Amino acid sequence: MSLKIYNTLSRKKEDFQPINPPFVGLYVCGPTVYGDAHLGHARPGITFDVLYRFLKFSEYKVRYVRNITDVGHLENDADEGEDKIAKKARLEELEPMEVVFYYMRRYHKNMDQLNVLRPDIEPQASAHILEQIEMVQQILDSGYAYESDGSVYFDVKKYAKDYDYGKLSGRKIDDLLSTTRVLDGQSEKRNSADFALWKKAAPSHIMRWNSPWGEGFPGWHMECSVMSTKYLGETFDIHGGGIDLLFPHHECEIAQSTAAQGKESVKYWIHNNLITINGQKMGKSLGNFITLDELFAGTHKALEQAYHPMTVRFFILQAHYRGTLDFSNEALQAAEKGFKRLMRAYQQIDKLQASDQSSISVEGIRKKCMDALNDDLNTPILISHLFDAVKLIGNIETGSESINETDKSALKKLFQDFAIEILGLIPEEEAAGESSGDRLKSVVDLLLDVRLNSKNNKDWATSDLIRDKLKEAGIIVRDKKDGYDWELE
Ligand code: ZN
Repeated sequence: MSLKIYNTLSRKKEDFQPINPPFVGLYVCGPTVYGDAHLGHARPGITFDVLYRFLKFSEYKVRYVRNITDVGHLENDADEGEDKIAKKARLEELEPMEVVFYYMRRYHKNMDQLNVLRPDIEPQASAHILEQIEMVQQILDSGYAYESDGSVYFDVKKYAKDYDYGKLSGRKIDDLLSTTRVLDGQSEKRNSADFALWKKAAPSHIMRWNSPWGEGFPGWHMECSVMSTKYLGETFDIHGGGIDLLFPHHECEIAQSTAAQGKESVKYWIHNNLITINGQKMGKSLGNFITLDELFAGTHKALEQAYHPMTVRFFILQAHYRGTLDFSNEALQAAEKGFKRLMRAYQQIDKLQASDQSSISVEGIRKKCMDALNDDLNTPILISHLFDAVKLIGNIETGSESINETDKSALKKLFQDFAIEILGLIPEEEAAGESSGDRLKSVVDLLLDVRLNSKNNKDWATSDLIRDKLKEAGIIVRDKKDGYDWELE
């Protein structure tokens, strides 16, 4: 493998050389689980899934860790406001952990639909409070943090004297210290650029733990410094996430790990760019906030139709992960056509008439596909080479090109390796969501036909039994004049 990967830290493409080959440690910032997964979750999910798949394809032994943020992520992404999960729990009158598990399951369901492989370890921040307290103590001991009225803050000014705060995001420490709002003397912080490592819990705050500084909860950035190094070691290969996490989250992570360990922990920082919708940033207030469930069902008003998860995956892979990607119905519909054309060609390979001679070079296309991935995971270029193969398949079908048995197998292997295994595309009829949905529909319809039959025969016991058992299984049946209607609860 000769992968070159863009490292946000050095701002250039670097040769990928793991610290301890063949092992590769990959840590990616996961979701804060207080709401349904949306389009914004799909891109990092798929970007790092392809990286994970490609590294494994290249025979690295990858340990992929993606965290679940279930504590300490406050509403304004800084040190103020309510905890996002606690707020949801209060509004819905649920236990915070009920909120966490409910949205975590839904997130997993959506990622499964997108054929995003599960990480090897998926640690929850709330299950690593002790380790977070330990690291806060280490940073206090090293002198780069201070306690203030039951909270602990990172001392950015002091750290910046010894290390480069801003090295990842490119922000200048002098600007950060001077442009941030002047503190009025009432604040617990020495400088407004300082960030919380541990926050004292207000009396109304539900999620709280004992600590040497009193009852409180960890600052949002702590969990990633703690859980990445706990599972991948003091130094590890790749840390990924969306570009929106670059500052302050990842900048703070570097500062925390460096302050606690005396050295940095991450070798390559990789960031995916964001998705815009019709040229606009996605936001609840803009009315263009589309959840993945809405996207797959076509139920949001901005959608002209439902889009299959594989169409969405293909759409995302058609752009390079570092470029912006604009979502629109036209773009999705074009992706749908492209995806179908690619998969139809793949399914035609077995039926191709083999000749004695080949007029095409599968090996040449394979090399180009590999080169595209090795060049900073250039999936759009890879897809364009797969479409070169689609064109050849068409030519073989019409007889203007020929292929022998060996090349036919090589062509099939090309699609299996690059389209199926690395890009993670599933031919539509095999796609889990649709086929299991279709199967469910035919089974429920069959049962309801039996029920209709028993009703006609005045066999009320059987008819009621079927209705009640379906209800237990979460299927609501409504009788209509001319038959029935049903839906999932
Ligand atoms: Zn993180």
